[in-house]
Amino acid sequence: MPGILILMGPQGAGKGTQAQLLGERMSLPIVATGDILREVARSDSDLGRAVKEIQSEGRLVPDEVLARIVQERTSQPDCRGGYILDGFPRTLPQAQLLEDVAKDQVQRLTAINIEVPREMLWRRLGGRRTCSRCGAVYNIYSKPSKIEGVCDLDGQPLFTRSDDNEESILRRLSLYDEKTRPLFDYYREAGRLFDVDGSGSPEEVFEQIAQLLGARERAVS
Ligand code: AMP
Repeated sequence: MPGILILMGPQGAGKGTQAQLLGERMSLPIVATGDILREVARSDSDLGRAVKEIQSEGRLVPDEVLARIVQERTSQPDCRGGYILDGFPRTLPQAQLLEDVAKDQVQRLTAINIEVPREMLWRRLGGRRTCSRCGAVYNIYSKPSKIEGVCDLDGQPLFTRSDDNEESILRRLSLYDEKTRPLFDYYREAGRLFDVDGSGSPEEVFEQIAQLLGARERAVS
């Protein structure tokens, strides 16, 4: 039983790519709080407008909002057999909330930390382009689309995320160091944190994750 897999790592570490691979190959749903919040930001409401502003500045959405979103999404039937968290938890109160959620749902928590050198993150974030319709992610340096600015899969225009500009990237990385890195100790002490080297290809990183999940499964069964 895979339980709850938490993908940790700074923005640009490849959490979204690994979430997709793990989701497909382990048949698990992905709960990506950044995507859910981008959806909220598109709605014409006070919350939508507030989230849009916070996201484009690269700040963190309040913990109470995340608590509601995560509780609601992970209580859906498709999450019963376990799920992948991408982008959550990012703060200590969020990690504490997740403990309660996991206990209620009788799910085991496993945190995977994808480490990538900082200069590589800049290239990945600065070069990132996303399909406006299907969400496929490209990179102008390492994974360009066949036609510049157009999605290979559905021919729709690609866009640069509003928070992938220099100022927001800087803020997001420093918030990561300040608020999210301390969670490593939290999970490490409980023996639930596993490190992987995220500088290789998506397949190489996936292989490392698959191996350590297999080893963990054998250790607890
Ligand atoms: P991401 O797609 O994970 O990089 O998230 C994009 C943005 O959504 C972040 O910079 C935050 O503004 C917001 N966000 C996503 N997840 C969280 C979270 N767990 N806590 C607070 N804000 C979040």
